[in-house]
Amino acid sequence: MLNYWEALNIVLENTKLLGKEKLLLTDSLGRILAENIVADRDNPPFDNSGMDGFAVRYEDIKGASEEKPVVLEIIGEVKAGGETIKVKPKTAVSIYTGAIIPEGADTVIQKELTKVQDGKVFIFKELPKGTNIRKQGDDYKKGDILIPEGTTIRAPEIGIMASVNKPSVYVRQRPRVGILTTGDEILDIGEPITSPSQIRTSNTYSLYAQILETGAVPVILGFAKDNPEDLKEKLSYAKNCDVLLTTGGVSVGEYDLVKDFVSQVLNVKPIFWKIAQKPGKPVVFGTWGDNSEKLFFGIPGNPVAAMVVFETLVKPALRKMMGFKKNYNPIIKAKLRKGYKRKKADRLEFIRVKLEKTDECFFAEITGKQGSNILTSMLKANGLGIIPQEVNEIKENDYIDVIIFDVSFLNKTF
Ligand code: AMP
Ligand code: MG
Repeated sequence: MLNYWEALNIVLENTKLLGKEKLLLTDSLGRILAENIVADRDNPPFDNSGMDGFAVRYEDIKGASEEKPVVLEIIGEVKAGGETIKVKPKTAVSIYTGAIIPEGADTVIQKELTKVQDGKVFIFKELPKGTNIRKQGDDYKKGDILIPEGTTIRAPEIGIMASVNKPSVYVRQRPRVGILTTGDEILDIGEPITSPSQIRTSNTYSLYAQILETGAVPVILGFAKDNPEDLKEKLSYAKNCDVLLTTGGVSVGEYDLVKDFVSQVLNVKPIFWKIAQKPGKPVVFGTWGDNSEKLFFGIPGNPVAAMVVFETLVKPALRKMMGFKKNYNPIIKAKLRKGYKRKKADRLEFIRVKLEKTDECFFAEITGKQGSNILTSMLKANGLGIIPQEVNEIKENDYIDVIIFDVSFLNKTF
């Protein structure tokens, strides 16, 4: 059977970058840039003052001191955005932060080092030539690539794009990810329970939230019963999606019909079925669409398996489609608080752990029962510890790799 790492590689090899779309700059936060952002002019666009004070000629202020101040005639003022004036010998121009340096001036004395009296300025200190002048092009030059394609847009990127006069920007499209929930026993929120064998769905909505968290667009396609007619009809609703996720109906049970019908209805080309991992072994992966640009994941119905398969297989693919530079959740090393033993080691296992950071290292604690139906094991967890295939035992305080899937843990910790 395929191991997890091989399966992940196969998924990513079959995942294609989505196209571009144009958004208003103000709607682009968090998206991935799909064009280079180029400077339309130098920044600063002209030499300007870094201080409120007086623009002078260095020649004129040489030797100024507390005891022997230099006295210059004030011949006018320049403000940020205002007209400029020429500085002639033995004169000074009152200047404000951001204002153009007047022709003839080469130095700005901040106000604090001066005194004004009767239209004259007293300067009490000699400053090196060029002091308090922000040179044209200091920050960047016209034509520079300021932000390369592929960058995640944050507040600083939005600020730069505004300053180079971009009202709109090309970003990567977000995949529409359809969720089809299957199973005769499954009810949506709000549906009345009419028989004790019925189960209220969790997967539909945990997947919905995971898709949103990844930055993609979730689409609930509905609930299909385990019969060919209903399944075929509901599968046909997926046609406008870039990615289809089904939950349930992918193991070998009699009613496990999904993997056959996705091929019939959507022309899904199956690539693998089953991975040597726990939970989530019976996962199906395939591609579809005219250029095999669409993905299909048949996810097992067990609630933990569904969430784990999303984090470990679906999320990296969605991130790649959206053009993220990094496809994976962060992986750290953590010491396992209590030892872990298992009889069979034929599969890689993702154990649910609660991470804790101390001054020394990270610790990981297993969150109780680990059955793939125990959803509360996810509730208490912020990481998935990896027990490699062939490993039967991890001793107390041995290091394991942990995938951090919980964004709030990252925010709290780093
Ligand atoms: P299946 O993969 O269809 O064999 O389902 C495996 C187990 O997961 C069964 O116990 C199902 O009742 C349960 N299950 C399937 N789908 C869901 C769902 N959407 N929400 C919660 N549990 C589910
Ligand atoms: Mg089922």
